[in-house]
Parts: sequence; C-alpha cells; structure tokens
Amino acid sequence: MTIEQIIKKVRENNPKADTDMLKLAYDFAVKAHGDQKRRTGELYIQHSLHTAFVLAQIKVDLNTVIAGILHDIPEDTEYTLDDIKKNFGEEIAYLVEGITKLSKIKYRGIERYRESLRKMFLAMASDLRIIIIKFADRLHNLRTLEVLPPEKRLRIAKETLEIYAPIAGLLGIWSLKWQMEDICFKYLYPEEYKKLEYKYEVEKKVERHQYTQKIKNILKKKLDEAGIEYEIESRFKHLYSIYQKMQNKDRQFNEIYDVFALRVIVPTVNDCYKVLGIIHTLWKPKANRFKDYIASPKPNGYKSLHTTVFGPEGKATEFQIRTKEMNDEALYGIAAHWHYKQRKGGKDEGQPYWIKEILDIQREAEDTNDFIKKIKFDVFSNRIFVFSPKGDVFELPEKSTPIDYAYAVHSEVGNKAVGAIVNDKIAGLDQELKSGDLVEIIIEKNRKGPNRGWLKFVKTANARNKIKHYSSNPLENFKNFFPRF
Ligand code: MN
Repeated sequence: MTIEQIIKKVRENNPKADTDMLKLAYDFAVKAHGDQKRRTGELYIQHSLHTAFVLAQIKVDLNTVIAGILHDIPEDTEYTLDDIKKNFGEEIAYLVEGITKLSKIKYRGIERYRESLRKMFLAMASDLRIIIIKFADRLHNLRTLEVLPPEKRLRIAKETLEIYAPIAGLLGIWSLKWQMEDICFKYLYPEEYKKLEYKYEVEKKVERHQYTQKIKNILKKKLDEAGIEYEIESRFKHLYSIYQKMQNKDRQFNEIYDVFALRVIVPTVNDCYKVLGIIHTLWKPKANRFKDYIASPKPNGYKSLHTTVFGPEGKATEFQIRTKEMNDEALYGIAAHWHYKQRKGGKDEGQPYWIKEILDIQREAEDTNDFIKKIKFDVFSNRIFVFSPKGDVFELPEKSTPIDYAYAVHSEVGNKAVGAIVNDKIAGLDQELKSGDLVEIIIEKNRKGPNRGWLKFVKTANARNKIKHYSSNPLENFKNFFPRF
C-alpha cells in the first residue's frame, strides 16, 4: 500500500480535496514509526496506510483519513498528541485522541469488557468518526490475524463479532460489517466456514456463474435497448450471513443458497422503476416479494427496490435495484451519507451533522437488533465514562468529580483521597470530569476520613452517603450502615 493509492482514492470521491495534508501526515507517520515492524514483518506504516485506505474507500471526510494515518502515533511512538495538534490542528488531534483512549480499555474477562466497550462506543457518539477509524483499524488487524497466538486470535475474533460488527451494522456500514464477520467466522467456526466455503465457492460456483451470466446477458440487451446506463453486480452475499440464515431459520443450505441474487445500479430513481418494469416483463414476479423501499425507506434509511422473479429455468432470482447514491449509503452508511450531503452543497460545519442525524435515526429504528433494544442512546446521554489507570471503565453521572470517581472505585479510596490526577495533570478534587478522562486518585494512608466540604460538589448518591455517614470509629461506621444496631 502506498500513500499515492490513498490520495487517488480520496480524489475519486472528492476531486477537489486538498490532499497535501495527506502527504504531510504520511511523512510524519513514517518519521514517527521509523523502522517499527508489525508481527507480520511488514513496516508499521503499512498498518497506518491500510487503515487510511479502508477509510477512503468508505468515503469519510479527509480529516478522518488523515487521522487514520496518524492513529497509532501517540500510543506507539515517542511523538505525542500535542505534536499532532501542532502539525495537523485541533480536529485531527481530537480524532486521534479518541482512538488512543479507546485502545486504553484493557481486557478483563469478556463480560466486563463487552460492557465497557459498549459504554465507550456510546460515549464516543460525540463523534462517530472515531468509531469508524476504530473499525478500519480493526479490519486491518483482522486481515493479519494469523500471525497472533491462537488464544489472542480467538479473543479478537470473538470480540469483533460480538461488539464491532453489530455496531457497524447499527451505523449502516455494511461493507465493513460483512468483511469483519467473514474473517471472524473463519477463525471462530473453522469447520463450518470450510464447509460453507467449499459448497459456495467450489461446488456451486460454476452453476451460479453460468446462471447469473445467462440472466445478465438477457437483461443487458433490454437495458441497452432502453438506453439505460447500468452496472450489474452478482456477488454480494457473504458466508457469515448465509451461515446465520441457516442457523436462525432452520433452513437448509440449498434453500438459502439456491436463491440467486443480482444487484442493478443505475443513475436515477426514474431508471430504478424502468429497470423494475423491464425485469417484470422478462420474468414472472413471485407473489409478495416485491418491496418498494424507495417510496417507503426502511426506518434506518435504507432505500432500494427488491423483487424476486422466476428467472430462466424457473429458478428464484432476487433483484435489488438502486441508484449509486443509495448503494453507497447502503454499504458505507453514515460515512457516505455525509459525503453526499456535503457534495450537494450542505455546509461543512467542522463537526459533521450526520452525527446528530444518525442519533435521530437510531431512536426511530425498529430494527430487531438486540443491541438497539437493550441500549438506547438517550439512556446514556447524561452519563460519562472515565478510565482508571488500569484501564477499567467507570460510569458516572454528568459533572461528576474525582471524589465521585474515588468512591465508585472503593470507599477507602474516597475516604483517603487527597488529590487527583486527570489525564496526567494535577486536578482539583472538585473538577468536573469528562467522558474519556483517565483519572487517578492520590491517597494518604494516614488520612482520618473524608472532608465534609466535599458534600458541596459531589454528584453521586454513593459518595454523598459515604461522606455523610463516615465516622472515624469503625464501629460507628458499621452502625451508620446498619442503623438498627
Ligand atoms: Mn492501529
């Protein structure tokens, strides 16, 4: 991978993009990472470039691609976030900082980890681009997973399948979701993967290829006659989704597999309906299988025409008909959404406003996705998430202070607190904490107990109660908590 490939990709999506910054970011990252190598033996910069390329592919804005190149610098080199801020400005530094914070979450048992990560993702809803960079980073790490020891491999695959992939789906970034899923599937269920891969890629491949060619040829002729520009795709099913369908619906491989699917991409909405007419004239549509998601888009914004017809030899054949814009939005979700908004002359407000939009969409979503059901964004909207030096995540109400944090860690940490360090800087015990802060409490072993003055600023009931009811006599403390004694 080279920086030129990335520049080319960015320009494809946005011919006017000022790509000089990309080159500068590249030079900076080369200098920072030096001759660091990945386990694969490749230079570290390759990871930075691959991450950035994935981002350029899904059409995120230029600053996000740049942040992708720089994302591991504060964590893995001697250059700091300040160096990035000085060279590339606040916004890019903010994105890189978000990634660095996410990487501070350490593994402590899958249950807790999952919970922590979910919370972090939600907290990071302040700028979804951070999460998108994390997806791109994870995808490249997955692609090189074979160099890790087996245990770590499985852990990363599991975590990706359970946390990252569903969130990518939630944000509509299907292309990343699918790619992540298929790699995880291969590592987590190697036998099932091999079986399915063999059936799909070997046994049925010739048949499928011949059949779709046949359909394409018939359709192409008619589309040319009608003077419609088009692209036809015939390979977009992925193995993990086939596997899941088989699991969920108790269906046999052949039933799912034998449905052939084609996607027709055309310039305008008008063309979509013209193509639909042509397909229905050529082949008999199957009853109840026509869906007009253009006239009534799905709650998550998905637009397309779907129809299943009895194709040549009477084989069930599914068509998805959509414009290029609809296709990009379906594959790249929020990223593409923002891209199109901006191109249509929407204002660039620095902080893309699709962040807000997607949160609104989320609220309206009626998707059965368990994740949405369980965790609503507004539930966490007035919560913050801070880190302990060990990387544990603590959930606190907004405007919580180091004292609230200290009592959340342990009563004794609260009782003996004398100072706080927030993000490596000395902080007051009454300082308001923000999501992502790394908080360390300085304790003095001989300190008698809490300062009642803290009651003026603490936000949590937990801290308040413990301060109020503290007594230097251990027996008294006991009484306070069990008043009947
Ligand atoms: Mn990375």
